[in-house]
Amino acid sequence: MLNFTIISQRNRQKYIHKNYAYVLHGKKSDGKILFWRCDRKIIKCPGRIWTTVEGEFIKMITEHQCTPSKNHIELKKLKNFIKQQVRETTETPKQILQKASLEFGIKNMDKYVTEKQIQNQRRKYKWQLKSNIFIGINLK
Ligand SMILES: [Zn+2]
Repeated sequence: MLNFTIISQRNRQKYIHKNYAYVLHGKKSDGKILFWRCDRKIIKCPGRIWTTVEGEFIKMITEHQCTPSKNHIELKKLKNFIKQQVRETTETPKQILQKASLEFGIKNMDKYVTEKQIQNQRRKYKWQLKSNIFIGINLK
């Protein structure tokens, strides 16, 4: 499961292989093989791969028309890391930025994520939690 580290905004699993990011696209009828397609939606890249359900790379099905981007993937990892910190810790935006900066070896974090963005994320998350509780009460 090494490569299933990235979760996209809509909680869809992502698979990382050789600096390409893939979104889950389907499953073989025997349930043993997962189909992945390149996540570059904007240019509709045809890149496709297969993996086992355990996340082991099997083969490339269709070649990419996009160029691999380490930055693209690192940025997603960074954003996911921050999202996780927002949800699972009570640290201040400043502390979260410091932690992320150490974790990813980035010095100028402001270029990627600002304290204000983290604040907004946390506000949004708290609001989501609250509204989930309301829904829970209504259901009972
Ligand atoms: Zn591609």
